[in-house]
Amino acid sequence: MEIKRNILLNPGPSTTTDTVKMAQVVPDICPREKEFAEMMRELRTDLVKIVHGDPEKYTSVLFCGSGTINIDVCLNSLLPAEKKILVVNNGAYSTRAVEICQYYGLPFIELKYPVDEIPDLNEVEQTLKNNPDIALVHTTHNETGTGILNPIREIGALAHKYNVVFTVDTTSTLAMRPIDIEKDNIDFCMASAQKGLMAMTGLSFIIGNKNIIEASAEYPKRSYYCNLFLQYDFFEKTGEMHFTPPVQTVYAAKQALKEYFEEGEQNKWARHTRVFNAINAGLDRLGFRQVIKPELRAGLVSSAVYPDDPNWSFEAVHDYCYERGYTIYPGKISTTNTFRLCALGAIDEEDIAGFFKVFEEALKANNISVPVKYND
Ligand SMILES: *Cc1c(COP(=O)(O)O)cnc(C)c1O
Repeated sequence: MEIKRNILLNPGPSTTTDTVKMAQVVPDICPREKEFAEMMRELRTDLVKIVHGDPEKYTSVLFCGSGTINIDVCLNSLLPAEKKILVVNNGAYSTRAVEICQYYGLPFIELKYPVDEIPDLNEVEQTLKNNPDIALVHTTHNETGTGILNPIREIGALAHKYNVVFTVDTTSTLAMRPIDIEKDNIDFCMASAQKGLMAMTGLSFIIGNKNIIEASAEYPKRSYYCNLFLQYDFFEKTGEMHFTPPVQTVYAAKQALKEYFEEGEQNKWARHTRVFNAINAGLDRLGFRQVIKPELRAGLVSSAVYPDDPNWSFEAVHDYCYERGYTIYPGKISTTNTFRLCALGAIDEEDIAGFFKVFEEALKANNISVPVKYND
């Protein structure tokens, strides 16, 4: 079967291999069969391996849902009674964590920073020192809204200095940028199968510290479907997801993990880096400005500022590229109009060369001047 290959430069879902796509086509199976449980057991073990976790100390728990379910689960499940969450926020995805706190009515403190700046570690420490009721610190590794890399190892060290649990939204770095759960001072990290793993949407997972999950059995229950201990406990007792798993997506994830280990952590990160460098070189050549300074970039998402050209139209450029098999994506910053190009997925630098050929044509076809112009 020939499947059209689209180059997705949006921040997930990403371009997948044909072998991952085809892995979904399997005989019908009831997911309560032993064979399926065995596959999920291997999958959970492999996920802990990706972040180099000691299997005695760390586990992974699968959920049916998009990546946001992980943030929801961690925040609502891991907060003891009478305690507070500290959200270190410099972008759209940490703002999502703040909204989750608000929706559940969880007590929280937000340390808010501009989207193009990294958090002030002294302020994080002072906040922890002055608020002994903080029991959980949450932040985002690569803020996918902009592409800024947060100093999670340092934030995690501060959290641990004050005996606080550290949860990190690694949805847009896990299985791309190497992560070492223990060295990076992470208690819980998370992702969905459609991002770094280059698999399908609908399966998400949290990787984290078993003892903390077990301790959380005693914490207030704020959700039924989205409780971490309940799902973990069901997996430990039966090997199964509490409720129906996304069956075909699990098969695709299994194949994607096989391909992940075949490619290897270092080779894969080198490939994403090649793609990222090619994206930046292309944007530079066309005169685009970016939101995040080169030294603060996580190496996976580029955020380009809309040019000051009366003919500029993101929609028109998007549509031109889309019709030719390339997907670009709007930004996620309220103060600046941007679009994003992401280095996720089963693509390499020649795909980026192909993209920039079409992208430049799109600019010219819309009478947008090249190199692009800015007023100041
Ligand atoms: C993609 C992503 C998510 C999940 O978003 P969904 O809209 O639920 O797919 C969460 N956090 C980060 C940092 C992401 O990049």
